[in-house]
Amino acid sequence: MTASPSPSKKLVTDKAKELGFDAIGFASAKAPLEADFQRYRDFLREGMHGEMTWLEEGADLRERVDSAELLEGSETVICLARRYQRADEESDPPFARSIARYARGHDYHNGLRKKLRQLAAFVRTLGERVEARPLCDEEPILERAWAARAGLGFVGKNGMLIVPGHGSYVLLGEVLTTLAIEPDSAIPERCGSCTRCLDACPTRAFPRPFVLDPRRCVAYLTIELEGDAPESLREGIGEHLFGCDDCQTVCPFTRGHKAASRAETFAPLERWSTTELTDLLAPDFESRFGELTRGSPLFRAGPVGLARNAAIVLGNRKDVSSLPVLQTAASSHPSLVVRRAATWAVNWGWPNT
Ligand code: SF4
Repeated sequence: MTASPSPSKKLVTDKAKELGFDAIGFASAKAPLEADFQRYRDFLREGMHGEMTWLEEGADLRERVDSAELLEGSETVICLARRYQRADEESDPPFARSIARYARGHDYHNGLRKKLRQLAAFVRTLGERVEARPLCDEEPILERAWAARAGLGFVGKNGMLIVPGHGSYVLLGEVLTTLAIEPDSAIPERCGSCTRCLDACPTRAFPRPFVLDPRRCVAYLTIELEGDAPESLREGIGEHLFGCDDCQTVCPFTRGHKAASRAETFAPLERWSTTELTDLLAPDFESRFGELTRGSPLFRAGPVGLARNAAIVLGNRKDVSSLPVLQTAASSHPSLVVRRAATWAVNWGWPNT
């Protein structure tokens, strides 16, 4: 199949904008991302994936870097970004502010998947026997690497994809297609001498620029890790109950950009307006966990993970009003992991106690 003329590219771009995507880039699917694949395997060899063993199981999956494995005859990877930071986040209730921005509302996957399916359906109409496959996190592709090849943005020293004019608070998705569309050029990395994200990381999770050690990252510690958070990193978890935005908050590219065009999708769930961190340490929390996290990314951390995180945050907060709840959890919570976290919190440098 020869290169498609510009009209296809314009039609796809216009349709993507109509669907609510904020940025789009086109990458050639012809050559696999071999250099990125090697970096990925080095990352696993160094054991940086911690308890995320599913990454190891798929270590040799060519799907990550070779789009032909996911769609035979694929010619183009259409890479898309949608902003999610909101203009009114300052008024979020305290419970929501302890959650990373992407996770404060409903799980975004359903809405994003629907839009990607609609775009894929549109792409199929652009030629005879054109195939298109939407990708929304289910397939193990290296999506930031594809997005960088597509010129959607560049990968910053914090490992995030930074989309010029939009920053890094963006959700990514892709549509693979057999339609040949002229690719965009990759854009050069623009961090220069800046090191703000590396300096701001509360747990020193960047051993060097562009390399994140997830085992030290607050997102991993509060979401993926099932057992005890390492004691040396608990203070660094600070006020983060679920995920962390610190390395993005300080980035100059995230400042001054426009807020999400459909902010309500990412607004905090109503039920969180009256939720307190101490509620997560209540003896009956496990039975109320589903009700609190239904339809939300918080479900991923599980009831023990959230209770453990709440104990650590309350310990860091040192608000004496939470001390009785922590003391009770330390002595009688059914989970050993939570008892240990609460014990640490109770003993962690409280003023005048
Ligand atoms: Fe790059 Fe600075 Fe942003 Fe880090 S904070 S990603 S170094 S521009």
